[in-house]
Amino acid sequence: MTSTTLTASDECCPLCYRRGEAGATWWVLRSSHRTSEGEVEYCYGRCGCLVILLAGELVKVTPGGPPH
Ligand SMILES: [Zn+2]
Repeated sequence: MTSTTLTASDECCPLCYRRGEAGATWWVLRSSHRTSEGEVEYCYGRCGCLVILLAGELVKVTPGGPPH
């Protein structure tokens, strides 16, 4: 396992390294759709960061904006 691999069940944010309590769901699946390369998933963390997964592999992390 490498540090660049993320699944929606991981509890630690790869960008800001905040994490939830044990057993808490950190990531919320916002949307997903299938492509020819696999399933793309958009997940928001509780920290506000957005991660994009392709076929279960982390492909992009976008920092969240400041809380309202
Ligand atoms: Zn984060």
